[in-house]
Amino acid sequence: MTFKQKFNITPRYLTENTSRRPSLPVNTVRFIVAHDTGNPGSSAAANVSYYERSCNDMEASAHLFVDDTDIIECIPFLTGPAEKAWHVIYNTPIDNELFGVDANDCAGGIELCYGGNIDLNTAYKRYVWVTAFSCWRYGLNPVSDITGHCILDPKRKVDPKNAFNLLSKTFEDFIADVIAEYTECLAPHENEIIKGKGLDKGVAVTILNTWLKPSWYAANETGNKNQADYIHWLADKIREGSGLESDN
Ligand SMILES: [Zn+2]
Repeated sequence: MTFKQKFNITPRYLTENTSRRPSLPVNTVRFIVAHDTGNPGSSAAANVSYYERSCNDMEASAHLFVDDTDIIECIPFLTGPAEKAWHVIYNTPIDNELFGVDANDCAGGIELCYGGNIDLNTAYKRYVWVTAFSCWRYGLNPVSDITGHCILDPKRKVDPKNAFNLLSKTFEDFIADVIAEYTECLAPHENEIIKGKGLDKGVAVTILNTWLKPSWYAANETGNKNQADYIHWLADKIREGSGLESDN
């Protein structure tokens, strides 16, 4: 099963073994934390450039930044083996209560850029997609395995609601959008043949025209109604399985 690659993810990794990118592996990705930058008007590229310039100034980072033109990964998560990013303070107990682990050790952090010249509706679509893709990539359940920075650290943080409020979206709306995107991106694409789940249209047409139609006519001619009905049923199943229009 493949996940529809609607957008490109650009790796632009921070310098290794720095304060922002400690180059520590994440052994098990357990959940995703939704963030926004809290800095209206700053693009994905600008945020990553700033992180790189200040890579030894502080232990604060995230894996991905998303705006209306770019999805940039500055710490490996989807474009390479997952590494730790420092995106939720360690001394909040909520991540441990909800997931049994600290977010910094086991969660992907995804930042939504907003404000200024950023087309937030477009940025949000990309953000929803990359969150859904992250769930698929790590076998997470989008219903239960996505949380927000504001949920994990409610006394200090409001993100990603800075951005969501501008879209008149609640956190629950966001989860519903991710679930819908996840479902859509997993659905079989047009003309995709999935082993055991579909039949190639050309093969179906050949079976119908070469074998079933002549047999159906023959059965009718000899008055064998049961046989004719059976062949008709079989033909419908083959049309159904290959996505051809029914002739009923
Ligand atoms: Zn945050």
